This record gives sequence, C-alpha cells and structure tokens, in this order.
Amino acid sequence: MKKILIVEDNEKNRILVRDILQHFGYETIEAINGEEGIRMTQEHKPDLILMDMQMPVMDGFKAIKALRADPGTEKIKIIAVTSFSMKGDREKAIEAGADDYLSKPINTRNLIKVVRRILGEEEKGGGEER
Ligand code: MN
Repeated sequence: MKKILIVEDNEKNRILVRDILQHFGYETIEAINGEEGIRMTQEHKPDLILMDMQMPVMDGFKAIKALRADPGTEKIKIIAVTSFSMKGDREKAIEAGADDYLSKPINTRNLIKVVRRILGEEEKGGGEER
C-alpha cells in the first residue's frame, strides 16, 4: 500500500483529503505545518507528500526546498496544494521543487488523477482538469 503524507494546517481540508485517499486505497499520515512535515518525511519515508503552501510555523515553499536539499528526502514525490486565489503560488511551488500541483478547493477526481500520475499508476498526460 502506498503511503501519502498530508501536510495541511486546515483540519477540514486535512480530513477531506485523508478520507478521499483512504477510500482509494492509500495509507495516509498527517502533519500540520512544514516543520512537522519534514520530521514526518524523515521518519516515515512516504511515497508521496501533498504539501499545502500556506501554513503557519513553516510554509510549503520552505518545506519543499528543505526536503529537496536533503539527500535522504530529495527524491520523494511532492504535490503542492495551492489556493485558487494565490495564482503565483503554482510557479513558486514548482520552482521550489514540487513535482506537480493541485488547486484548492480540492476536487476528488483531480486529486486522484494527479496522485496516480505522480505515483506512476496511470498514463502520463494533461494537467488537472479545469
Ligand atoms: Mn493552509
């Protein structure tokens, strides 16, 4: 079973994403900010990280840069979760080292599509659906 780390400060979003991923057969673990996300990544070596960008303590950009700078975590797949209203965040997230991005509000179909693609479980192609 593939393990996915959800890094998200908003509890409602965390629960939504957790429920969807578990329903589709993924194991999930959770962190509430970038700092905790880095610790959990080092400890649990997830197959994939869903990283919210806007978080207190340490935001997603800093966390992604730190994970990419550490040989122990540099190859772990990361999907940045960006707010629809923060348009520049997608480019910034990819620049920081994210493999792909998803926009909030989270749509179940897009979430699973992008997760499967990044995990190599589905043919490549397209971005998320708009
Ligand atoms: Mn947030």
